[in-house]
Amino acid sequence: MNIEAYKNLVEECKQKNVTLVAVSKTKPVEDILELYNLGQRDFGENYVQELIEKEKQLPKDIRWHFIGHLQSNKVKQIIDFVHLIHGIDSLKLLQEINKQSEKINRITKCLLQVHIAQEETKFGLDEKEINLIISEFENLKMKNVNVVGLMGMASFTNDENRIRKEFQYLQSLQQKLQIENFKLSTLSMGMTADYKIAIEEGSNMIRVGSLIFGERKPSKSP
Ligand SMILES: *Cc1c(COP(=O)(O)O)cnc(C)c1O
Repeated sequence: MNIEAYKNLVEECKQKNVTLVAVSKTKPVEDILELYNLGQRDFGENYVQELIEKEKQLPKDIRWHFIGHLQSNKVKQIIDFVHLIHGIDSLKLLQEINKQSEKINRITKCLLQVHIAQEETKFGLDEKEINLIISEFENLKMKNVNVVGLMGMASFTNDENRIRKEFQYLQSLQQKLQIENFKLSTLSMGMTADYKIAIEEGSNMIRVGSLIFGERKPSKSP
């Protein structure tokens, strides 16, 4: 754990009006509690089973962000407590979230994940698919999901210009969709390696793990 780095990050985020999601995947509940006791409430997890186990053991006012790739058949396991689901990459997933949320009379906040990196392996929607989801969303009257913004992951590269361009693209997409009458106020972009660039390019939610908690074992990274 790097508490000093965490405190600096909190300060930076406060000044710039950015929400800091502390990404605690693979890290023990003790580490999460330590940050909780310093005031941190937003935590991000990638794996359903791990999230469920941590949620049981930790204070109930933690806001859990699901930032991984969510399978439709696992939605019901986290729906009653999850604060924000970042990785929506299909209409099917959104419909399942709506259905499960309706059952428990809840409105679940979601972000559409946009494919901004050059790597083919990363998940996410392109602009055409997003427009399709948005129009279907209105047709299908999904009253129990609230799409509040976009999320993206930049390429894994040392090329700062490329990262910046990818973030700029996501930000411009957010602006464009916003103007077209869809309220997308959250822009979730930026991780340990690129959060500074992301904030410069308009991010208002960063997801930072290793800078705060230390390196993860490679076998479990996404
Ligand atoms: C793991 C992960 C992060 C945090 O990555 P760090 O490089 O450790 O800051 C952020 N976003 C997503 C989607 C992740 O899977």
